[in-house]
Amino acid sequence: MNSDNYDLVIIGAGICGLVLANEIKFEKPNLKFQVCEKSAGLGGRAATRRLNEQVVDHGTQYFTAQDQEFKALIEAWLEKGLVKLWTNKLSVWYGDRIAPEKGQKTRYICPQGMTSIAKDLAKGLPVKTNTLIVEAKRHSDKWHLKTEAGEEIHTKTIVSTAPLPQSLDLFADYLSAETKARLERITYTSCLSAILTFSPEIAAETLNKFKGIFWHSGNIISWVANDSSKRVNQPITQAILVIHCQPGFSEKNFEEDENVILDKIISELALGLGDWVKNPIEKQLKKWKYSQATNVAGKPYIASNDNSLILTGDWCIESKIEGAYLAALGVASLDFSLTAV
Ligand SMILES: Cc1cc2nc3c(=O)[nH]c(=O)nc-3n(C[C@H](O)[C@H](O)[C@H](O)COP(=O)(O)OP(=O)(O)OC[C@H]3O[C@@H](n4cnc5c(N)ncnc54)[C@H](O)[C@@H]3O)c2cc1C
Repeated sequence: MNSDNYDLVIIGAGICGLVLANEIKFEKPNLKFQVCEKSAGLGGRAATRRLNEQVVDHGTQYFTAQDQEFKALIEAWLEKGLVKLWTNKLSVWYGDRIAPEKGQKTRYICPQGMTSIAKDLAKGLPVKTNTLIVEAKRHSDKWHLKTEAGEEIHTKTIVSTAPLPQSLDLFADYLSAETKARLERITYTSCLSAILTFSPEIAAETLNKFKGIFWHSGNIISWVANDSSKRVNQPITQAILVIHCQPGFSEKNFEEDENVILDKIISELALGLGDWVKNPIEKQLKKWKYSQATNVAGKPYIASNDNSLILTGDWCIESKIEGAYLAALGVASLDFSLTAV
């Protein structure tokens, strides 16, 4: 059985974990650290799938930026071609018409898929994928972690960036009753996410009509994206739509048969887009149990009394890519040398 020793272990290679790892690498080069990620890929909810050689975003759809530092990071990604301005104006389905949204907002996307920013952030970082942390115990001034594969990891400090319920599964016993009570009000919505593909002819017909639609009618859908409209300068061999369901529908139907769910989604989609959506070439469903946090902590992290355990993520400041980024910056400003070996 392998056994490793670190100053710091970061759980999760989503945007929060990777931004934090980057900051640590450059600002605290003497710290021996490791990022442990349960999945095979990077990015967490900034998720991309490949469908017949075309990428598709089935988690995060786009991101916005208010913070100056985040804007500067986006500028750097724009220069590298990793990020593109998608649109300043999306559409709304009102039940009788699709119309431009009121107002406007700058939305960015990744032409090669959302995971491309995670892959960029992870360059040169010690990230171990396929490493699910299943147990955490604290004794003799150290944390002792166990992975699903039976590996043991020892560390002075842990930063967990997993969605809050998953962090609490591991660490609730190490938080005060007062902290646990404060965290109880932070809950997550779930989201059923459908991917539908259509012929290139339909792609040509639909591509220029819309980019994304906020679905303000019916009880099932909340959002529809013309994912193909993000793949600028790439050969489009199929039209791909991504549909997100409302939290209420997602929760109620989470365990339902996938084909039943997809049929319900397609029926409501046809009301706004037309009957052509009833005959997709391919249909897939992804279930996000923890999609977005409904309340947030209002600060970048929650720490145990001795600061050896830090819980953070998008549930701290704002349940968005920018919120995950800002939470990571808040944690990076901590003096880890106080707890490091
Ligand atoms: C369907 C959907 C649509 C969204 N749309 C948008 C949008 O349009 N714009 C926007 O800005 N945001 C959107 N979001 C929210 C955005 O994706 C998140 O706010 C952001 O990605 C959270 O990043 P994070 O690093 O905090 O968490 P995550 O991305 O969840 O990263 C946590 C990581 O921890 C890993 N992990 C968990 N437990 C363990 C464990 N025990 N051991 C090891 N690894 C573990 C997970 O695999 C994951 O990779 C959307 C989210 C979803 C699901």
